[in-house]
Formats: sequence, C-alpha cells, structure tokens
Amino acid sequence: MTGPAAQDSAHPAIARWQGADGEILIGGRTLRQVAREVGRTPFYAYDRGRISDRVAALRAALPEGVRLHYAIKANPMPAVIAHLAPLVDGVDVASAGELARALEAGLDPAEMGFAGPGKTDEELAAAAVAGVLIELESEGEMRRLAAIATERKLHPRVAVRVNPDFRLKGSGMHMGGGPSQFGVDAEAVPALLHSLAELPLQFEGFHIFGGSQNLSAESLVTAEREIAALAIRLAAAAPSPVRYVNIGGGFGIPYFPKDQPLDLAAVGAGLTDVVRDIRSALPEARVVLELGRYIVGEAGLYVCRVIDRKVSRGQVFLVTDGGLHHHLAATGNFGQAIRRNFPVAIGTRFGAPAEETVNVVGCLCTPIDLLADRAALPRAEVGDLVVVFQSGAYGLSASPTAFLGHPPPGEILV
Ligand SMILES: *Cc1c(COP(=O)(O)O)cnc(C)c1O
Repeated sequence: MTGPAAQDSAHPAIARWQGADGEILIGGRTLRQVAREVGRTPFYAYDRGRISDRVAALRAALPEGVRLHYAIKANPMPAVIAHLAPLVDGVDVASAGELARALEAGLDPAEMGFAGPGKTDEELAAAAVAGVLIELESEGEMRRLAAIATERKLHPRVAVRVNPDFRLKGSGMHMGGGPSQFGVDAEAVPALLHSLAELPLQFEGFHIFGGSQNLSAESLVTAEREIAALAIRLAAAAPSPVRYVNIGGGFGIPYFPKDQPLDLAAVGAGLTDVVRDIRSALPEARVVLELGRYIVGEAGLYVCRVIDRKVSRGQVFLVTDGGLHHHLAATGNFGQAIRRNFPVAIGTRFGAPAEETVNVVGCLCTPIDLLADRAALPRAEVGDLVVVFQSGAYGLSASPTAFLGHPPPGEILV
C-alpha cells in the first residue's frame, strides 16, 4: 500500500527523465509539443536517443565477438525497427508479420532468426524463401519444413531451439526448464540431429533461451555458462560444424521500487569466459545475444489524458482516456504474479512534489483497468497528461486493442 508520503518521482526510472517548465521532455521536446505532433491522446512515445544509448552501452559492455540481435516482438513499430536496423547485427522474428516488417526495414535475411512454436506451413515457406535462419521448435516442425523444402526445391537454413535441462534463476518469465512448448528437449536433440542429417536442411547451430526479465547479473551469467556448455555438448551430435549459437538473453529492466537495475558491466565481464569457451570449442560459430525489452523498454512512455477527476468514499480517481486496451502490462495483467504499479507521473506537472494519493484508472468497464493503485502524485486536473514509464517494450503490441472498441493509441518515435 502506498501512502501519500511515498515519492513516486524518486523512482530511478523517472529520475532519468528531465523536465522543463513543469513538463517532461521527450527527445528534447515538451510533452505537450509531442502530444500536438501525435494529434491525439493516448499515445506511446519512444525516445530514439535513449534506444541508441542503450545499444551503445551494450556494445561497450559485451565482450568482442558477441553479435547483438533485436527481438522484434518487444516493440514492432516500423520506425523503431528502422532506427535499430543499422545499430544491431540482426533481428529475431517470431511470425510472418514480423518477418515482413524486418524485410521492409531493409534488414539482411542472413542475419535474421525465426523462432516460435506453431509456425504454419506458409510461415515456414516464407522464411525459407527469404533465406532466414529457421529455429526448429520440434521434430514435427522439422519434418514439415523438410517436406516444403523438397516440394519447392529449397535448402532452408535451420538451427535447433533447445529446451534446456536447467532453469534460469531469477527470471520473471521462464521459457525453458521443465516440459515446454518451446524447443526440443535437450535429451532428444542428438536423435533429432541424426534425422536432420538426412533431410534437405542446412544445419547451422543452436538457439537456447532461458527466460525473460532477469535483473540478476549473477544468475544471467550462470545461465549463459550452462547454455554454452549445453551447446558445446550437443555439438558432438551435429551433422556439420556448428556455425551459430544463440545464447538467448532475457536482460531485465527495473519496473518496481525494489527492482535494482541490471549490472551490465558484471554481465559483460561474466560473458567473456562464456564467449571464449564457445569460440574455442566451436571456432566457426557466431555467438548471438538476442534482446528485446532491455533495448527498448526504458525508452518508451505511455501517455494518456485525465478526463475526469472524482472522489469515491474518500479515494481520488483520475479517470483517463487510456487503459489496459493499450497497455495491458501496466495494469499488471501481462504475466505478472502480483499487481504492482509501473512508475507513473503527471507529465504536465513534472517535478512537482506529491500532494495526494490517487488511483489512476483507464476508461474501460472493468475493475482490472487500473494504471496506478494509490500512487503519490501532484494534484492533477482534467486535461493533465499522465505518463507511464518503462513502457517501450510489450506495450501496444501486447495489449487487447479491440476490447471495448476504443480507437488505438498513437505512436511516435521522437
Ligand atoms: C521474447 C523473446 C525474446 C526477447 O525477450 P526480452 O525479454 O524482451 O529480451 C528473445 N528470444 C526469444 C526466443 C523470445 O521468445
């Protein structure tokens, strides 16, 4: 429970933003200027300078030889993909739609990986024709792709997505370990590779992703060490030299007051041995780290307008034109076990001291449409703009925009 004394503006994720004349600045422009440019509220604004800075920080911290991929599913806005295209070494796509966006951005198909369960025959064919690396999630998928390859006289590039036999500790969302829809169980990989050798597929290597939203450098490095060891072990059963090892990623960003930002320098230092081990065992392998949230998450804001201010049984409600139909994660309904507030501020009274405790709600007819539960904020009036921070990843594209039939939000890269 947050009391009025709690200083939400002290959240490090908010402190990294500057204001001028009481308004938050985005890419050097005031919030109201950006709102005028978008032409409506609500909207998402992404700060291109912050995205570039984050990639530069990664480049500085990661050992030489690590290829940095952007996982498009974190934020598939075409302008964001286009901005990142020259900054990263490749991208990861997870649907034919993302593949099309990556190709439209002019990215090199040779540097694209396509992972994800349930790829349709059409998606497999599109990926094979484009020449992207297809990350096989199961034996059935491998056989369907081989049939497509035979029929269409293609020779698709493939990697095997492995469901590891260990779990990434400290990860907000597990995507490997026990039984899983993702990847081929590590213990079944040697037999799969044996079959693969007979098929019209070009084997390149392995993709092992342990989980998402991890804030612990130590557990990330431990997981990457195990991932590297697993890839090296499985390489003994490979039909040809391993040329690709995707070691996943899962670097997290701080959302909640107790979250400590990831110690990137420690991760980079810890990965030095990991990369060296892979390179000495598998000298032809390119080592890929794929990140989504960490690259774009902190660069994005969700902005909505206060439409009504009401008091109900002693509690203040700021009713906005935004909500979970645009930003499901901020309402705690996108995979979070416990609902906690994302960092929130009144962007048109930026830097003003907290004066009252309020609930910030959306405009949907459901009680789960709650953007901030008893947050300490300056007094806001109708027309003020609410800003939700840490909203650059898994925002708009991870929200049920059709729910209740409101218009979609605007989106701008500033
Ligand atoms: C979602 C996903 C990512 C991106 O995860 P982030 O936590 O956003 O970095 C990377 N790889 C795979 C396989 C994924 O499914």
